[in-house]
Parts: sequence; C-alpha cells; structure tokens
Amino acid sequence: MANTIRIEKTGAPKQKPDQNNLGFGQNFTDHMFIMDYTQGKGWHDPRIVPYAPLTLDPATMVLHYGQAIFEGMKAYKAKDGRVLLFRPEKNMHRINVSNDRMCIPPIDVQFKLEAIKTLVNVEKDWIPEAEGTSLYIRPFIIATDPFLGVRPSNTYQFIVILSPVGAYYAEGINPVKIYVENKYVRAVKGGVGFAKTAGNYAASLKAQMEAKEKGYSQVLWLDGVERKYIEEVGTMNVFFKINGEIVTPSLEGSILPGVTRDSAVELLEKWGMKVTERKMTIQELYDAYAGGMVEEVFGTGTAAVISPVGELNWDGKIMTINDGKIGAISQRLYDELTGIQTGTREDHMGWTYVVSD
Ligand SMILES: *Cc1c(COP(=O)(O)O)cnc(C)c1O
Repeated sequence: MANTIRIEKTGAPKQKPDQNNLGFGQNFTDHMFIMDYTQGKGWHDPRIVPYAPLTLDPATMVLHYGQAIFEGMKAYKAKDGRVLLFRPEKNMHRINVSNDRMCIPPIDVQFKLEAIKTLVNVEKDWIPEAEGTSLYIRPFIIATDPFLGVRPSNTYQFIVILSPVGAYYAEGINPVKIYVENKYVRAVKGGVGFAKTAGNYAASLKAQMEAKEKGYSQVLWLDGVERKYIEEVGTMNVFFKINGEIVTPSLEGSILPGVTRDSAVELLEKWGMKVTERKMTIQELYDAYAGGMVEEVFGTGTAAVISPVGELNWDGKIMTINDGKIGAISQRLYDELTGIQTGTREDHMGWTYVVSD
C-alpha cells in the first residue's frame, strides 16, 4: 500500500494513570489510528490523530446489524527498554479471516503491522513497566454506511486504540471455577464462531451472567447442535491434561483459533509432550475425571495468557481439578510464554516482534 501514515499530535496530552491500579480496558492513550474504506477507492487516508469520540449518524449500519470485527494483543516494555509484540502477524492475518466472514474488505497484513508499530511508537511513554502490566492493543473495524437495510456496508473504518492494563494476576495465579453451559450455545459450524466478531460476545452475555450468579467466573461452551462436545471458555481456548496426554478441541469452524492456543500447542510439542487436537465430549471428560485421570485443565488467551481451572460444574456434577491448584504444565506454559512476551526468556520460537529497540 502506497499510503503513508499522517500523524497529528494532540495539543493536550492526558495525565497518565497510576501504574499500580490500571485494571483492564479503562484508560486510553492520547492518540488513535484511523483508516477509511470507500467502495471504488479502497482503504485510504491512514492517520494517527488525538484520541476522541467518534461522531456517527444514528443510522450507521454497525449500530443496527453488528457488522464489526476486533482483535486483542499486547505490547510489553522489556527490561532492556525494547518494546515487544507477540506474534502480531497472526492477529493481523486473523483480521482478514474475520473480515472475509463478515463481508468486510481485507487489509494488507504488513500495512496493519506498520500502522500498529507506528501508533505504539507514538505512545511509547504510555507502556506501563510494573511487573505483569502491558499496553493492550485493540484494533477493530466497523461498518459506517448510514443506511437501514441489511446488506454489507460500502464504507468502513479501521481503528486502533491502546489501553495500559494492569497485571492479570495481581494476587498470584488463582485457578478459576467454570460452569459447563448446558442451556445456551455460542456457535455452530457454518456460523461465525471462528470470527472475532462483536455479536459473538453480545450472544454470550446471558450465559456469562447466569454463571456469575451461581458463583462461576466463566462458562465452558458445548457444541451448538448436540451440546455434547467441548468447545471453548468465554474468551479462551481450553486444554486438558488427561493421563499424561494433552487434549484440546480441534478447530472445526465454531471455535476461535487463538494465538495463545497455537503457541501452547507448539511449546508442548517442543517439550516432547503428546498433544492431540480432537473432538472430546463432556461425558468423556467426566468419565476420565471419575477414573482419576484428569490432571490439569487450563484456558489460553491474550488477556490471562494461561488461566488454570480449579473446578468444573457439569449439571451439578462437580469436578475438582488438581485440588484447585495450578498444575505443573500450566505453570510451565505461563512462565515460558510470559517470559518470551516480556523478553526475560530467550525466544527460541521466533515469536518476538520488536516495535522499537
Ligand atoms: C480472542 C479469543 C480467544 C483467544 O485468542 P488469543 O488469540 O489467544 O487471544 C479464544 N476464544 C475466543 C472466543 C476469543 O474471542
């Protein structure tokens, strides 16, 4: 793309938030990246401008029909001052996969990387440095035609905002309690489960809320047809260690193909473990549990990296995993992944992308 990124700096930089009390997704930096799409003209006018509210016509299509996609990744400041991203080309590729499903025109992967690199460099002083903190990167695309008919929009905006976020595990890694969802479903094959599209999350809220009321932090989704096969957890993919073998549900169109999931599979195989991607029923998991063979359960995703599961509730049948404590493999994956991401461990996998030296 011959487009050069125009940069318009803010005249009123904000006060930076307290690094020890950042939370997640509550504070935003001084600038954002925006690029427009118009049919016939393509993606154009990439620019970094002061962070500000969007002005949208009330008829803007995304507000009515949800034609939107998003991504989530993190930038870390290493101890040596380098700014690092983790496998960002995978997220940039996944944008185009999500776009294709949602009828949004693709954007060149290298150009998106360049845009994010430029924005993160402009906002370098916003990257927190306290242990476990990072700069969360949220790219997203919205349909912007002011039109009340159901069809793909002819105009879009690609926007990237940044949010300094706190340590996910401020009080040490605590295994979560998960409710196996047997009433609501998230996705079906042929649907949009593999795309990071806004509507998937709106559709998940009711199950999430009811699980919270029962004292569970997230739900484990089962397949949308038979409610039998294990799919994924909220915003995480899921792994099981059963009798020494690692099992994770195979990607068959209804599961989001996580970058952390892929990285965990690669590391486990490199460590010589047996990893199997296949369909697994909740009954099979329960039987393995009853036979004393379920050794670890953990989720993988950008926000938590690795989230150990201490308890599963399937229809009132409680499975307590590893005495409710983090398992050795979960801990090893967490240490290795966060070590590579923050530059404290050598990256033998070639996953590090240096934004600035
Ligand atoms: C984003 C997401 C994941 C995790 O993907 P990562 O690339 O590892 O962050 C898993 N499941 C769902 C539904 C998601 O939205």
